[in-house]
Parts: sequence; C-alpha cells; structure tokens
Amino acid sequence: MERVYLKRENCCGCSACYNICPTKAITMKPDEEGFLYPVIDESLCIDCYSCVNVCPLITEGNNKEKTTPDFYVAKHKSEEVLMNSTSGGAFTAISDAILGLGGVIYGVDYDDEFKVLHRRAETYQERNRFRISKYVQSNLGDIFKEINKDLEEGRKVLFTGTPCQAAGLRGFIGDSKLTENLYVCDLICHSIPSPIIWEDYKKLLEKEHGGKLTNVQFRSKIIDWTRENSNKSFLYTTSGSEEILNDERFYKLFFGLKTITRPSCSECPFTDIHRASDITIADYWGIEKYAPEWMDTKGVSVILVNNEKGADLLQKCSEGLFYEKRAKEESLAEQQRLREPVQFPENRSEFWEDYRKHGFEYIIEQLDK
Ligand SMILES: Cc1cc2nc3c(=O)[nH]c(=O)nc-3n(C[C@H](O)[C@H](O)[C@H](O)COP(=O)(O)OP(=O)(O)OC[C@H]3O[C@@H](n4cnc5c(N)ncnc54)[C@H](O)[C@@H]3O)c2cc1C
Repeated sequence: MERVYLKRENCCGCSACYNICPTKAITMKPDEEGFLYPVIDESLCIDCYSCVNVCPLITEGNNKEKTTPDFYVAKHKSEEVLMNSTSGGAFTAISDAILGLGGVIYGVDYDDEFKVLHRRAETYQERNRFRISKYVQSNLGDIFKEINKDLEEGRKVLFTGTPCQAAGLRGFIGDSKLTENLYVCDLICHSIPSPIIWEDYKKLLEKEHGGKLTNVQFRSKIIDWTRENSNKSFLYTTSGSEEILNDERFYKLFFGLKTITRPSCSECPFTDIHRASDITIADYWGIEKYAPEWMDTKGVSVILVNNEKGADLLQKCSEGLFYEKRAKEESLAEQQRLREPVQFPENRSEFWEDYRKHGFEYIIEQLDK
C-alpha cells in the first residue's frame, strides 16, 4: 500500500496506524509544516489494511460515544493545585483517583529541550509534569503499545490527550476485555499548533535573550484566569537572563492568525458533544455569567461525563474536587469547539509560502507590522 490517508486534512497524526502495523512498515515523519504523518515502506507492507482499519478519521462514527454527556462545573479544593493547573485542576483530581488505585497515567510533558511529547507516570511527581496545557502537537511515539502492555499486565490506565489522540487510542485498543481498565480523558481542543513553529519560536527566544531556555509555561496563573487573559501569559526563562519573561507572539500565530495549526483541525470530527472519551475536561468559560458563585480567578473547569465509566471516575474525585451539575447549553454557547472546527484564514497557504521562502523571523517581523 502506498498511503494511509488521501489528503493531509484526513490525517490527525494520532499514530494509531504506526503503532498497529504488524511489520513496522510505517514511520511517522514530519512534513514541511512540521506535523507528523505516516509514511509506508512498501517493501515491508503486507497489504493487511490494519492501518486503514484503525484510523479514527476513517472509522465510521470516529470511535465517539452516541450518548449526550452530563456537564459539570468543577474546581480543585487545593489552591496550590489550582495555581499549577491550566483550568480548575480537574486533571489532577482525575489522575489522583487512578494513581490512588495503583494505576498509571499517560499525559503530555516536555523533554530536556522543551519538545512536546506523551509520557507515562507512575508517581504523583511524574504526573505533575503533565499539568499545564502545552499548545503544541505532542509526539505519541510508541505510547499506544506501552498502554496496551500496561493493560495486559492488569494495570489501570488513564490516558489524557486531544480528542483525536483519544479516538486513535480507542481504535488501537479495540473492543477487547482490556478496555475495562482503560480510562480515556480528552480535552475540548481549539486545534493543535505545529511542532516546527514551536522549535523556531524557542530558538528565537534564545537568540533574543542569550543562553538556553531553562523554563517555559503557557497560561500562568500569575495573570488571573479569565477568557480574556487566556492568551496573555507565556512565561519563560533563559540561562542568559535573570528575569522571568512574558511573550505573546506564539499565541498571536495560534489563536490570532490561526495559521500554524494542523490541516486536519479544519475538518475535525471531534468538535461536538459526542466524545471519543469517558470524560472530557476544559475551561468553564462564561461561568461568571451563569453561576458567579463558582467564579474563581485561579481557574474553573468544565467536565463532560460521557458514559458510566466517566461518571464512576468523577465520583472517585470527590475527595479533591468540588463539582456540580450544570446545563449543557452554557458550555455549548461558550465553547466553539463543541459546535464546529477551527476555520482557517484564506491566507493560510501564503503564510506557509512566506515561511518556506523567508523563514520564521520574517513571519515574526510581519506580526509586528
Ligand atoms: C492544544 C489544546 C487546545 C485546547 N483548547 C481548548 C479550548 O478550545 N477550550 C477549552 O476550554 N479548553 C481547551 N483546552 C484545554 C485546557 O487548556 C486545559 O488543558 C484543560 O482544561 C485541563 O486543565 P486542568 O486544569 O484540568 O489540567 P492541567 O493540570 O492543566 O493538565 C493539563 C492536561 O492537558 C494535557 N495536555 C497538555 N498539553 C497537551 C497537548 N499538547 N496535547 C494533548 N494533551 C495535552 C495533559 O496531559 C493534562 O492532562 C486545550 C488544551 C490543549 C492542550
């Protein structure tokens, strides 16, 4: 077989095909926008079609639940957790519940060079590294195979990731008995930015301030948690500067221009209330209007309970989490990604043409004009 997908919009890069290929004929390779796509070595391919059959964008229904979720507002009871989480700390409470049962957590971390990737955690300390959204597509590597191994060994597993990654994992694990111990948690996802642009951005920050990056943090709570502030704080430090610095240019490319996100995001089938997960977490935007008593400038979460397993999981969180059922209409009104995919600007291809011809610094110069 030549290709798993027909056009770039049809591949979300979840790597389920790479993980399932019985002859290791597939490698995940970046295209010129830096997003990973499966490339088939035809000399190894046995035409078994496992890759096509596992693809969550091809599978009818996209591995989504057919039920309508219950919506909750939630907030972690610990101020320390709230300050170190993107939203209301729902992830910490959910992962605490699974760690407390002797389970393992899969989530998104930075490596030593702040590349974004999925990792496995068995301790609270390792899990804490997954906190705080990293607005870059993570590299999943062999993670689905690792999860399968944990499940085969009888471990409980919590996977957290974007909706397409969650759907890819569900397709990979299939309907086997193994799913009993698997808990899948996705996010409401705006869209996912390019790893190559992230690399260029980090290099630029290092060039501007000297030395190597020593820390990065999207959405710090040093600035109050509100929708308006959600694209204002990106904190970083470099070995060449004593200061904690803040920069908004990556957000401008991501949320503002919408040019640096994956082509498949514009046709994302996971932008509705039917989810490919047991539980979904996000920001409770608009809570100050609907239930001001829940508003907290340190962060508030919305939780979608998508099935019985999700309900059981939420119940297991009651030690760490305050929560209350809310009308689904509130989040449907506030969360565009529960209604429709991101719409790319007409000049998206011009943007990438400029990037190819003139490089990243030129792109940044244009931003300031
Ligand atoms: C790319 C992206 C787009 C998002 N878009 C929206 C949106 O449109 N609306 C909205 O309300 N919320 C959105 N979120 C979710 C929101 O930013 C928070 O991640 C979520 O509310 C969890 O917050 P928390 O306080 O419970 O968890 P935290 O303690 O902050 O934990 C963060 C969680 O996100 C996971 N994560 C971090 N980075 C990534 C990544 N690159 N890919 C996959 N998973 C990741 C971690 O594994 C962990 O489970 C988005 C998140 C990401 C990563």
